[in-house]
Amino acid sequence: MMQQKLQRLRAFYESGATRTLAYRIQQLQLLKKAILQYEQSLYNALHGDLKRSPEESWVTELGVVMAEINLALRSLPTWMKRKKVKTNLVNLPSSSYIISEPLGVVLIISPWNYPLQLLLAPLIGAIAAGNCVVLKPSELAPATAGVMGALIKELFSEEYVLYAEGDGAQVVPELMNSFRFNHVFYTGSTAVGKSIYQMAAAQLTPVTLELGGKSPCVVERDANITVAARRIIVTKFSNAGQMCIAPDYLLVHASKKDELINALKESIRAFYTTAPANSYNYGKIINERQFRRLAGYLTQGTIVHGGHTDIGELYIEPTIIENVSPDAPVMKEEIFGPILPVITFNTLEEAKKTIENNPDPLAFYLYTADAEREKEWLQAIPFGGGCINNSSWHFTNHHLPFGGRGNSGIGKYHGKYSFDVFSHEKAIMKTPVWFDPDIKYPPFKGRLRLF
Ligand code: NAD
Repeated sequence: MMQQKLQRLRAFYESGATRTLAYRIQQLQLLKKAILQYEQSLYNALHGDLKRSPEESWVTELGVVMAEINLALRSLPTWMKRKKVKTNLVNLPSSSYIISEPLGVVLIISPWNYPLQLLLAPLIGAIAAGNCVVLKPSELAPATAGVMGALIKELFSEEYVLYAEGDGAQVVPELMNSFRFNHVFYTGSTAVGKSIYQMAAAQLTPVTLELGGKSPCVVERDANITVAARRIIVTKFSNAGQMCIAPDYLLVHASKKDELINALKESIRAFYTTAPANSYNYGKIINERQFRRLAGYLTQGTIVHGGHTDIGELYIEPTIIENVSPDAPVMKEEIFGPILPVITFNTLEEAKKTIENNPDPLAFYLYTADAEREKEWLQAIPFGGGCINNSSWHFTNHHLPFGGRGNSGIGKYHGKYSFDVFSHEKAIMKTPVWFDPDIKYPPFKGRLRLF
């Protein structure tokens, strides 16, 4: 049954229907319209899965997708144009150009934490580039997966965009082992990412892996502490900390620790009140399994703020902890929840050692007023992307490539980079026939290094 559906996608792709500019633009316009039509149902579903406010869901999900669609609609004619490049001396008078062509049938797999945006932003790139697509949403955000399924099925035929729901451990191997996708775009944990890479390798299928990791946040001695605290709190506790690019832990210069902790506490109270459980602006943990994992971290340091939990409501209070051992699980695993360890440092070298315990983070944040320090830190730490005097917002600028390196992933997307991920750059040299010098043909003897 699934096999037949996949073959139909292949046949539809081979028909060439998805290749024209007009077709791609039309699908993107339809998608944009449908998201606006479904807007309220999507907010309700996201609230059901994550207790997130519509405002936050707009900024982190629907708005991100809209910006991506608008950019693609504006830019697609330029992106699709054949690109003329120079030709080197030895090949003159040939001319050279690059054609961006679709890859074929691609698979997009997404996680539960931003279930809409992490499925649809790659879809926009795949449609813009002219592909047929299989979408595999996360089964762990079922309300959103349900509404997105209705939207996608209403909008697209199954031979163009196929919505494949179900338990990932079962559905994904079934898809990948029986069909040769032309690309697999996966967002999720590093552990599952490795098995996706292995399955793809068996068929030499290229992959993009958008994985997780422990993203450090450094607060230097010269940082504006009040502003730093506000920006750290709003990004750490957005979506109850379940964000791949949230600051995972803080490294604060020892001289600023007390001041920073006081400012952090003040911001928590200002944003989420003294009863965050009832706050409009504060979410819940996705499920009991994640709740138990996170609750376990609370005993691995001294709680300086928060620490209250309620398993019935899947609630964990915004929490700050200190005195954590580098060997504790909370400092070895990606936290992915509302618990913020604070560690002090005196020198860059010392802080770097802590960061190197979890190398290649997806993101890195630095709060400093000193341009020299900024340069030193950026050079010292390998990471995917990041911010200076801010956290997480780099994700929302579609002019920047988004992706990890090493442990945090392979490849990048957003904006034009999404179009590139799902395109092949076909390299062409065209040679006129009026010039055909003998020098390019045997006998070559005695003509060493003539070119
Ligand atoms: P996950 O790896 O458990 O699941 C992601 C997807 O993989 C889901 O669709 C799931 O159904 C599928 N899946 C699960 N088990 C599978 C298996 N054995 N074989 C094949 N597919 C399987 O990830 P998650 O818990 O949903 O998401 C959390 C992780 O994702 C965190 O590590 C986070 O940092 C990371 N993340 C990364 C980004 C990024 O952009 N780099 C964004 C969000 C989340």
